[in-house]
Amino acid sequence: MIDYHIHTHISADCDIPMMKMAQAAQDKGLKEICFTEHIDLNMIEGPDFSVDFDVYTAALEETRNAFPGLVIRMGIESGLDIGTSDKMRAILNGQTLDYIIGSQHVVFGQDPFYEEVWKHHSKDDIFNEYLRVSLESALAIDEFDVMGHIGYISKFCPYEDKLLRYADYADVIDKLLKTLIDKGKGLEVNTNGLYMTPSTMPETSIIKRYFELGGEIITVGSDAHYECVVGHAVADTLETLKNIGFRYITAFRRHQPQFLPL
Ligand SMILES: [Zn+2]
Ligand SMILES: [Zn+2]
Repeated sequence: MIDYHIHTHISADCDIPMMKMAQAAQDKGLKEICFTEHIDLNMIEGPDFSVDFDVYTAALEETRNAFPGLVIRMGIESGLDIGTSDKMRAILNGQTLDYIIGSQHVVFGQDPFYEEVWKHHSKDDIFNEYLRVSLESALAIDEFDVMGHIGYISKFCPYEDKLLRYADYADVIDKLLKTLIDKGKGLEVNTNGLYMTPSTMPETSIIKRYFELGGEIITVGSDAHYECVVGHAVADTLETLKNIGFRYITAFRRHQPQFLPL
């Protein structure tokens, strides 16, 4: 089993030492993990989501030495944003990374984690705008391997029906998924949504559509910020992917997809 979305003390919003996250992965029987530390250059609130690569590399080396039986890849979760994409490109291109998740964390200028966004815009406006900027980013930005947690807005949606479903936004979701496929980018299935909504991100109907359109590069990650979450719901998600028709889950080395049979 693998987990391709784990944060550690290198990320501004996580306090758990990398060694502890690796220990949790080993304890849960995971064979391969990827640390995906946050870099967001367009957040107007919250901590400084930057990464000190010297500290990251040193922690990774120490952790790899301590867990020789665990494959540990080096990744980044990059906040997608056209306005800061040149600066992000310069940061990322200077590093030797295995994997980059491109994540849309900002809608109408703010992280939907904050209530403000929901106070000033309707749910439909937020969902539409989220998909519009996700598509715009997917078209304009190349420095990512998979698009992270499509449907991120659902996690913080204050309404009873939180989910972003394919049928409700079919046109723009088709454009987004086709863009990813045409550019050779993959789709991440993020199990973190299950804590706050009834579904992974993306919701299953979107994953099915990606498969129908011929998408093959698909990864799974818990988005763990705590030890107890490492590997959460990965086994169930792999089963769901198998039922949809996928035959492989994807791992990455130096941005090259590696297809592991399901
Ligand atoms: Zn994220
Ligand atoms: Zn994350």
